[in-house]
Amino acid sequence: MTRLAGKVAVITGAGRGIGAAIASAFVREGAAVVLAELDIALARETAARIGSADKVLAVQTDVTQSASVQNAVSEAEAKFGPIDVLVNNAGINVFCDPLTMTDDDWRRCFAVDLDGVWNGCRAVLPGMVERGRGSIVNIASTHSFKIIPGCFPYPVAKHGVIGLTRALGIEYAGRQVRVNAIAPGYIETKLTHDWWNEQADPAKAKQATLDLQPMKRIGQPEEVAMTAVFLASDEAPFINASCITVDGGRSALYHD
Ligand code: NDP
Repeated sequence: MTRLAGKVAVITGAGRGIGAAIASAFVREGAAVVLAELDIALARETAARIGSADKVLAVQTDVTQSASVQNAVSEAEAKFGPIDVLVNNAGINVFCDPLTMTDDDWRRCFAVDLDGVWNGCRAVLPGMVERGRGSIVNIASTHSFKIIPGCFPYPVAKHGVIGLTRALGIEYAGRQVRVNAIAPGYIETKLTHDWWNEQADPAKAKQATLDLQPMKRIGQPEEVAMTAVFLASDEAPFINASCITVDGGRSALYHD
């Protein structure tokens, strides 16, 4: 398993969920990986589980702070060398009614879900552009294309992630820096469990989610990770400014 052999990758929000699955898959494929995560205890625990200290490093990182992301990139470079791959995975759900949402809800959502992605890109792009190689993978969402009422402003920020992906992909295409996105549908992580648990009847809410799925199951983080490996690897050299949907067909379905 050497599809990412010799590559150095930074993955934000990699302590658990989709980010942890991506980190684990990258290590399996031969990459040296930095887990840039808010919760450093969680990141260290995940790092110890997925690989040895000579291949995996946990760095406390808040993606809302550009200096914090820059620090993670500097630590990654100091330990492993120049960054080949960045996965902007950290994200939060902020699901509100537009007119009762507070200013803080709006800012919190954009700070993580859009500014956080830009902060990551800005930290690695100068080096990638200078070296004339690099792959950035932004974790968007099917909320980047579709709207569910009551989920404002998360889809607004996630639409922005696609815009950012396309703009930067075009801007640096001539330097062989590829910027792509993955749009997961329902994937079973703490994020989805938290959402079900907030509903009046969690079991019913989970069943309602299942009933929406053409494949009659919810996706697993590893299924997103496999796509991230592909986009990060040299198997996708001409895929740029693009988005791959990983949702079991859900967003293609009109209705049952
Ligand atoms: P989780 O909540 O399970 O994991 C997200 C991770 O990001 C957590 O470890 C969290 O740390 C970390 N994080 C949050 N804020 C920051 C921050 N400011 N700086 C650094 N790290 C941070 O989420 P998922 O794995 O489910 O989601 C990962 C990505 O996938 C997100 O971008 C999400 O929007 C997207 N996505 C998820 C879907 C799903 O169904 N699960 C569907 C579509 C998209 P902490 O716990 O300390 O906050």
